[in-house]
Amino acid sequence: MVNNNLRMYINGEWVLSHNKDVISVYNPADKEQIATIPRGDYEDIDVAVKAAKRAFKSQEWQETNPHERGYILHSMAQKIRENKDEFAELETTDVGKPLSQGYADVEAAARYFEFYAGVADKIMGETIPVDHGVLDFTVREPIGVTAHIIPWNYPLQISARSAAAAIATGNTVVIKCAEDTPLTALKLAECFDESSLPSGVFNVVTGYGYEAGAALASHPDINHVTFTGSVQTGKAVMKAAAENVVPVTLELGGKSPNIVFSDCNMDEALQGVVKSNIQNAGQTCSAGSRLIVEESIKDTFIEKLKTKFENISIGPGLKDFDLGPILSEKQFSGIQSSIRQAEEDGCLIWGGKQVQINGHENGYYMQPTLITNCDPKSKIAQEEIFGPVLTVFSFKTEAEAVELANGTEYGLVTGIWTSNIGKANRVWNKVDSGQVFINNYGAGGGIQMPFGGYKKSGFGREKGLEALKNYTQVKNVAVKFE
Ligand code: NAD
Repeated sequence: MVNNNLRMYINGEWVLSHNKDVISVYNPADKEQIATIPRGDYEDIDVAVKAAKRAFKSQEWQETNPHERGYILHSMAQKIRENKDEFAELETTDVGKPLSQGYADVEAAARYFEFYAGVADKIMGETIPVDHGVLDFTVREPIGVTAHIIPWNYPLQISARSAAAAIATGNTVVIKCAEDTPLTALKLAECFDESSLPSGVFNVVTGYGYEAGAALASHPDINHVTFTGSVQTGKAVMKAAAENVVPVTLELGGKSPNIVFSDCNMDEALQGVVKSNIQNAGQTCSAGSRLIVEESIKDTFIEKLKTKFENISIGPGLKDFDLGPILSEKQFSGIQSSIRQAEEDGCLIWGGKQVQINGHENGYYMQPTLITNCDPKSKIAQEEIFGPVLTVFSFKTEAEAVELANGTEYGLVTGIWTSNIGKANRVWNKVDSGQVFINNYGAGGGIQMPFGGYKKSGFGREKGLEALKNYTQVKNVAVKFE
């Protein structure tokens, strides 16, 4: 299925890295090597950024009308859907996620292209009343060469959401995909290659973060950086961009709570809590990784959760089990050591054990995990674990629920489960969170909904019309006509 020795896509050409070094890519389901990718570094980034800069300034791109950019993006949505089986299998083979989630990512990617295709010719300015005899108006202009640094957990969706918005607004794009999961960003490049997008407008460089990623974030010809990944790397990217006085959009991690009140619809809340925790094996920035449940229903809710977790099937993504493998040994041992630490701190652990899957002995599979009896200030309660691990707390009053929900450094998503609309309204108002879901949990979903964090979950918003602000700058023009 996978063409083994892949190349990166720079200036409309498929190329190796200048030094011909490669990085191996593995299938998390069984640790089989599935591809090699070029180990791009500063020199390759420099070629890509210069190509994107030339493409940005080219007459061809400057004279491409907004609605023509829309046509190209529409054709991308179509190509993605025509190739949906290949895209979904690539994403699942690369990331490990269940195939149905791979398909959902493919449809989301197609919809990002469609959404921003429709927006391309609707990016408008304002007329501003000023002095008599003067016409004052604004236009929103593209920013130039945009850098997109992509994490390994949702490579297709995240590449699509930011590249589509950047191209719709007339920018050019250099993507640095994650070294662990590069396959679908390269497949997107293949689709662009077949489209009428001018060469150099969309480029994908593969390589390690500390080499290609760092080179991209600090390149002096980059005009905007969109970074999605961990807080630690986000800080490094921000520092690098600061040297060039370049704006950044940071989409970072989370420790998102589901607040469950005793008057909720329990079946729906249970389903929402489970899905938000195990989606992509918990390797989701917006995973519902904390449960904050009202004391009076805590025991019942936990018993029901255990039954749900016991019924979760575990196995390779291509066979569409509920819970696929963890990405790598490094991620798996990080999750396990957080669980061991929690145990040492006196928390009670349920589940969380490694699972052996016949024929896939080299993959890292584990049981869903419930952690109770924890100090809300402990490591397990505060840090993003990035695995199928749910830490449970209880509350007696609304104020306590809000305090627990807001009690981490993060603020990405909050779920609120209650049948009392007044209570829901009071609570959404008080939570520090970029998105709030009431009686549902979209796991960051929604093409049209602005998505991004409060606090250390980042700043700037992706998705929806809000994302257009990342990729445009405002020019004010005053015309004296009398
Ligand atoms: P990461 O920070 O390790 O890597 C992200 C990307 O940055 C990769 O492409 C990596 O190669 C690159 N990188 C690494 N070091 C770099 C450097 N010094 N300079 C420039 N680039 C560098 O994150 P990850 O492990 O790939 O992804 C998981 C994290 O991403 C989690 O914290 C998760 O919550 C977050 N995430 C956030 C969102 C969101 O939209 N808010 C979505 C998905 C993932």
